[in-house]
Amino acid sequence: MKWIKQLDQLKAYQPGKTIDEVKKEFGLDTIFKLASNENPYGHSEKVDELFQNTKFQHMLYPDGAATELREAVAEHFGIEPGNLIFGNGSDEIIQIISNSLIEPGINTVMPVPSFSQYKHNCFLQGGESREIPLINGEHDLNGMLEAIDENTSIVWICNPNNPSGRYIPKDELFEFIAKVPSHVLVVVDQAYHEYVTASDYPDSLSLFNAFDNVILLRTFSKIYGLAGFRVGFGIASKEIIAKMEPVREPFNVNAIGQLAAKAALADQEFVEECKEKNDKEKNRYYEFCEENGLSYYPTEGNFILINVNEDSQSAFDYFLQNGVITRSGAALGFPGWLRITIGKREENDKVFELLKERMKK
Ligand SMILES: *Cc1c(COP(=O)(O)O)cnc(C)c1O
Repeated sequence: MKWIKQLDQLKAYQPGKTIDEVKKEFGLDTIFKLASNENPYGHSEKVDELFQNTKFQHMLYPDGAATELREAVAEHFGIEPGNLIFGNGSDEIIQIISNSLIEPGINTVMPVPSFSQYKHNCFLQGGESREIPLINGEHDLNGMLEAIDENTSIVWICNPNNPSGRYIPKDELFEFIAKVPSHVLVVVDQAYHEYVTASDYPDSLSLFNAFDNVILLRTFSKIYGLAGFRVGFGIASKEIIAKMEPVREPFNVNAIGQLAAKAALADQEFVEECKEKNDKEKNRYYEFCEENGLSYYPTEGNFILINVNEDSQSAFDYFLQNGVITRSGAALGFPGWLRITIGKREENDKVFELLKERMKK
């Protein structure tokens, strides 16, 4: 059959083990899943209330324009509904952007290690990925600028960056984007935006207001705690959104996801609470690492990358056998490190206990 040649080199995404799989395999009752940066505190109770009080009509297609959610998000940000594009997770927005702007002969510039889907989608489109290594976990913005040429269509920025947790301060990001040629779309993936506590981080819409060649990516999967529903969105000029809309599948955001996301958005108190709890727990990680001589990256997300000074996979296996699912740094471009989602207090205590135990070895 005439498979596209890119498929010769692609492997399917390897999801981590599920909680049930780990329970069965190791005969454990309690599993802490700290692998995918999901919200350990769940989601807003308003989402539960919605499910108790709604008579769903599952035989109907969803609203393809996600009108109610669109209006709620537009109002939340003080922008126009036409500045938004919705996706089946922000993963799908990354795919739509890539489908719209990458083809053979075109290149895109990205940090590495960073979110794997930038490169994956570029490869599928037959484009060239120009991967600019992080410096101490941070974007090398000068290196990225130098890599841009007349065939560059997208520059990817992950702020804060997954998996390093580091961020780009406002001034540096503004200076960078001002130097990016106007034929290049700057994608700023802000999946962890709501967790950021650094005071010099760019505020919500300043980038959107300042530049025409920027799209911001947001998701309901992380602090809103709705990863299972798959809802994400992009914020950009109406021209950019209108150009990409034909690429979007007509009914890409499911009906329940639209409702749940709208309910979750309305509960900013929950978001604020999760941010505060995460900040507190993040500081406990810092203290633990410092007391025990482990290096780590200070993080602006709900995850932390820790140097475990051994083979990532062995450390990962040890955690798994003890009921904690993490991400091996080796799979993320940081061999010798583990990426751990910052969980609830008792989950983090368990991580500390296991790290201590492991260091005795
Ligand atoms: C989790 C994550 C996403 C994808 O989130 P969706 O669930 O697809 O909305 C996008 N970018 C980064 C950096 C992430 O960590």
